[in-house]
Amino acid sequence: MTTAQLIDGIALSKQIRAEVGARAAALGARGHTPGLAVVLVGEDPASQVYVRNKVRACHDHGLHSVFEKYDATLSESDLLARIAALNDDPAIHGILVQMPLPKHINPHRVIEAISTAKDVDGYSTLSAGELMTGLPGFRPCTPYGCMKLIETTGVNLRGKHAVVIGRSNTVGKPMALLLLQANASVTICHSATPDVGVHTRQADVVVAAVGRRNTLTADMVKPGAIVIDVGMNRNDEGKLCGDVDFAAVSQVAGHITPVPGGVGPMTITMLLVNTIESAERTAARRV
Ligand code: NAP
Repeated sequence: MTTAQLIDGIALSKQIRAEVGARAAALGARGHTPGLAVVLVGEDPASQVYVRNKVRACHDHGLHSVFEKYDATLSESDLLARIAALNDDPAIHGILVQMPLPKHINPHRVIEAISTAKDVDGYSTLSAGELMTGLPGFRPCTPYGCMKLIETTGVNLRGKHAVVIGRSNTVGKPMALLLLQANASVTICHSATPDVGVHTRQADVVVAAVGRRNTLTADMVKPGAIVIDVGMNRNDEGKLCGDVDFAAVSQVAGHITPVPGGVGPMTITMLLVNTIESAERTAARRV
């Protein structure tokens, strides 16, 4: 029997997307239809699915989208030239280059080429610096979505102990900074942490972003804690699962996200939110 309350990422995503649709319509009525450019280089099958979902989400919520697909042989300089053109395109408010890129292209150079005003993935060093220093800017979509999921619990993070497992630039580190910004005391665990459980057992909030199933087991969780599962893995039956032993941890936690249906739907939703925000800032500058 589940004791933890389920944090429903599908329901929250629907609610936020309805708001996105309304904001997009209001911008459109003022001649500022928000636009997202999605750039894919190569044939990576998973990337093709992600990109298709992003473009469809734009279409479904009244955002203009441009999908640019290039052969894996595209040169780095040609890709940088496309980004420069999108930076200058007034119909585009967000630019997303799908990772991974072919090996001959330096992903850092590409990310840094995106104008900070259009960096709706929030991956550039400038966007990361804005997050670190508390300046307004675009927050990376997955951790931003996790914060929205935590908000639905009604728990005030001030003074709470949050543990993030994972320290990637796209999930773990920005997640820790967002929790810190919300006045939590934050611990970051990673592959060199000798005993992750020592930390998580003291945590009011645990965010698992590792990419290995059963990283967080029931004996590692304080009763009543909020558990956010970012991981996307496959179990022995080939079904999607997270980093958390959901069946057992949901007997101990107070709130928990499922996989699927938790963090996953929120990532694209927050990409739409960032794009809308970018278009609203542009519209405000043009008034
Ligand atoms: P990543 O870049 O591979 O980072 C994984 C992190 O986990 C690293 O910091 C690594 O530590 C740490 N780690 C590895 N083994 C560990 C262990 N035994 N104990 C503690 N920490 C350990 O992965 P990512 O991009 O952050 O993604 C993490 C997971 O989230 C993946 O499953 C990914 O598919 C999923 N994800 C989901 C979404 C979504 O929308 N739902 C979005 C993004 C990512 P080191 O730094 O020391 O190597």
